[in-house]
Amino acid sequence: MNNSDTIKILFIAGFERSGSTIVNRVLGQIEGFVAWGELRDVWQHGLVEDRTCSCGKRFNQCPVWTDIIKSFFDAQQGKITPQEMIALSKLARNAFYLENFGLPLPRSVNLNVQKYLSQLENLYTAIQSKTNSRVIVDSTKAAWYATLLKESSKIDLYVLHLVRDPRGVCYSLQSRKMKGELASQWYNPIHASVTWRFKNVLSEKLSALESEQYLRLRYEDFIDRPSYYIELIMDFLKEGLSEPLFKENEKSLEMKVDHLFAGSPSSRFNQGVVNLKLDNRWKKELNPINKTLITNITKPQISEYGYLKGP
Ligand SMILES: [Zn+2]
Repeated sequence: MNNSDTIKILFIAGFERSGSTIVNRVLGQIEGFVAWGELRDVWQHGLVEDRTCSCGKRFNQCPVWTDIIKSFFDAQQGKITPQEMIALSKLARNAFYLENFGLPLPRSVNLNVQKYLSQLENLYTAIQSKTNSRVIVDSTKAAWYATLLKESSKIDLYVLHLVRDPRGVCYSLQSRKMKGELASQWYNPIHASVTWRFKNVLSEKLSALESEQYLRLRYEDFIDRPSYYIELIMDFLKEGLSEPLFKENEKSLEMKVDHLFAGSPSSRFNQGVVNLKLDNRWKKELNPINKTLITNITKPQISEYGYLKGP
């Protein structure tokens, strides 16, 4: 599927702390692309929690999001609320896992999942029309959400499966935990490794939906050669660059003000000239016992992704 009547979405799949916020923002600097983070959470983190947008305003005061959300709700004529979208999102996620375990879904559940999908189509339509964009980059990451979007005849979905060495991911989660960030509190190295493996296996399965619209990319490679990988992603999307984002062999670019309401705080608010740099502190600072534990739990994947051979 590829025609002008569909909404082209580049969906970043994978596990958290894998560099998706910075990759999302780099892609958002391309003319015709709009990249504002994890769009699944616009209802909870945006409308309900009213988090600070990366433009500096609260979500409900951000003029760009206000315009999009007004367009979405005007089209609904009061038929849906943010709380209903949050409940439908949880239901759709649970339905995906039940189906994966081979359990039949009641008809009422299927109807609600379809209702959720049609409202998501309305959201992406509002984003596309209000931003006049050709490609929407969504770094929601969850495989269940991508599987659902793939069902839509209105959406042309491309999956960028972003992976990062799990030892770097676990180190990053530990650092966030030390800073007291709530979302990281429930991770320990074993739990993080098992979840990293599970979510990456689910993301790999997205290639079965349409192999030509699935691309796996190591975050470390992207940071090492951003101009090369941006061109690769553009070829994958069948898009063209009006001008290069990076000079050959350079890693800095000019970032405009974006409108992300969630994502890595260290990458979300950067503006002006931003230099891409890999955080490799885990190689020296990760506890050796944890390093061995994480390596062994994730071995099949890190071997396949080439992390046992070095960069
Ligand atoms: Zn904003």
